[in-house]
Amino acid sequence: IEYDITRIDRMNLIAEMAAGIAHEIRNPLTTVKGFLQMLGWKSDLQQYQDYYQLMINELERANCIITEFLSLTKNQTEDLELQNLNTIIQTLSPLIHADALQSEITIVEELGEITDISLNEKEVRQLILNLVRNGIEAMEAGKDLKVKTYMDSDEVVLAIIDQGKGIEPEVLAKLGVPFFTTKEAGTGLGLMICKNIIKRHNAKMDIVTSSKGTTFYIRFPV
Ligand code: ADP
Ligand code: MG
Repeated sequence: IEYDITRIDRMNLIAEMAAGIAHEIRNPLTTVKGFLQMLGWKSDLQQYQDYYQLMINELERANCIITEFLSLTKNQTEDLELQNLNTIIQTLSPLIHADALQSEITIVEELGEITDISLNEKEVRQLILNLVRNGIEAMEAGKDLKVKTYMDSDEVVLAIIDQGKGIEPEVLAKLGVPFFTTKEAGTGLGLMICKNIIKRHNAKMDIVTSSKGTTFYIRFPV
């Protein structure tokens, strides 16, 4: 399936405005969270402690949404640097393996010989992490998630191959729409951020999905 990322143009403007507000919302959230924690410690009633914990969790969720939203507008003016995608994957490797281990997923790295491309390291790290995390979250324990790189004519290809349950057509149509999520604790911002990063690198995203799993292909121009 060929993916359309033009919608991100409009999103850029909205995200920039939202980033300013999001940043300001964080400070009061942190203050409230701190005092709730304190009250929770002081409270003798177990029932109240549960309520406090619930409030703190919800604040953390709000904070999570803001963090992901803010990362949309970050690094936008930073320059691209000639780098190898494999190097970035290798430095991310411990983090990815730790994430996978928690869900009893095995990460298989298949890094081919690829040429350097101009990229923003922070952004590409985020891109890989978001895709890998989605893959892990889509799978049951005991499955493999493959991270693969290779050359395809004049493109460097990153493939994230999961053995999850696949993506239904109605979900596929909404991927990357802000706050669209099918997960109970999802933010629905991961793929929107990915698409934004992909666009800034003049790359392309293709998704191939079936009931046996999903592969996200990211094609970077050399
Ligand atoms: P979140 O992960 O917070 O839900 P994302 O933007 O990362 O937000 O993903 C949006 C939705 O796309 C997910 O809720 C899920 O339904 C679907 N999705 C993304 N990646 C995969 C995948 N590898 N396999 C199955 N579904 C996926
Ligand atoms: Mg996600």
